[in-house]
Amino acid sequence: MDKAMVIVGAGIGGLAAALACVRRGWAARVLEQSPVLGEVGAGVQLGPNAVRVLEGLGLGGALQAVAAYPERLEVRHARSAALLGVLPLGLAMERRYGAAYATVARADLHGLLLAAVQQSGAVDLQLGAPVRAVVQDAHGVQLQTDHGQTLQTALLVGADGLWSQVRGAVLQDGAPLATGHLAFRALVRQGDLQPQLRSQVVTAWLGPDFHVVQYPVRGGDWLNVVAIVQGPAPADLQNWDHGANAAELRVLLANSGGPLLDLVHAIDDWRLWALCDRPPMRSAAEQAQGRIALLGDAAHPMRPYLAQGAGMALEDAAALAQALEDLPGDVPLALQHYAQARWQRNARVQARARRNGAIFHLKGPMRLGRDASLKLLGQRLLDVPWLYSVS
Ligand SMILES: Cc1cc2nc3c(=O)[nH]c(=O)nc-3n(C[C@H](O)[C@H](O)[C@H](O)COP(=O)(O)OP(=O)(O)OC[C@H]3O[C@@H](n4cnc5c(N)ncnc54)[C@H](O)[C@@H]3O)c2cc1C
Repeated sequence: MDKAMVIVGAGIGGLAAALACVRRGWAARVLEQSPVLGEVGAGVQLGPNAVRVLEGLGLGGALQAVAAYPERLEVRHARSAALLGVLPLGLAMERRYGAAYATVARADLHGLLLAAVQQSGAVDLQLGAPVRAVVQDAHGVQLQTDHGQTLQTALLVGADGLWSQVRGAVLQDGAPLATGHLAFRALVRQGDLQPQLRSQVVTAWLGPDFHVVQYPVRGGDWLNVVAIVQGPAPADLQNWDHGANAAELRVLLANSGGPLLDLVHAIDDWRLWALCDRPPMRSAAEQAQGRIALLGDAAHPMRPYLAQGAGMALEDAAALAQALEDLPGDVPLALQHYAQARWQRNARVQARARRNGAIFHLKGPMRLGRDASLKLLGQRLLDVPWLYSVS
């Protein structure tokens, strides 16, 4: 059988899938809509499950060169800064799960995947190629780009993110939903901050109807900050990188205090994302159908409150390559196995991320109950063994 595939989307999931598959003897053609590749400034946390996938791709060293490895996660009260709970990361995670907990700039993660894809020599990466039409029949999949290019393939991977065209062709289940949550994101040099605002740990600040997460990236030299607030979404949901008004964010976070408020006032350059998701997956059919596999946000867009969207895309990529190796010569069967291996775990992560968001934003007596539980059970509530121990 001709081991050739087409992948739509050169994001974290698409590049990881290309790499995982070419390492097993496939040739991959990747069609990316953007004329230039470049990730915007923001960070990504990678649990041990995601780090394990990168190590499996031989990228452990490349990750170490660009990531930070925080010693702990601290959960704090947004107004008083009181410590509510701690989860040891660093060595504790490595001992427990056999892989580290890393924090990395998205551009650096994307860059190390891209470099490996280019070095493989087996990936044909075509930029400025937005895929519009996808049609599947018993023999294969035909796709067309905006520029009139037509391609035929025996295996198509839709890794084209939240607004996936490939998903639209396979599932016809409408657009993603606005969550009512907005993310303000900033990436700043630690050296540009007052010493007391610099940090080498992951901190989640919990406030009523908002939360803020900060962590180091780039070997600890930069600090990534994301503030999630509730509010009306911008009209153009698909443009997920709006310039943001720092003054607006300061008003929204006026209910915070101490070091968090100082940090928010110290940063002027914020980007704004309107967060969208879909309900948790309901069946394997949302992960693959026939000769088309969906992967990453195209299959299971999620809220970022478990910090696992990229992690699940990486896991999908590894599982896809494994299924194709285990069941050579029968693409639809291999994709069924891929879908069965992935959909329930992805659905569980999507559901847990939604639940976390609700818990993070609690108000009034419910909030007091949450804080008391965190103080009592901290690590037990914050650790997620079913997630971190497998990938
Ligand atoms: C605020 C926020 C914080 C987050 N924090 C974390 C975190 O800490 N940890 C974590 O694991 N995840 C996190 N995520 C989630 C993570 O960023 C995504 O889940 C991940 O990037 C999904 O990767 P993907 O490859 O599926 O999609 P994308 O990265 O969106 O890539 C899709 C690619 O497809 C291309 N494309 C789209 N349509 C077409 C088309 N028609 N034709 C050709 N190409 C196309 C796009 O240009 C893009 O390059 C966060 C997300 C947000 C919004």
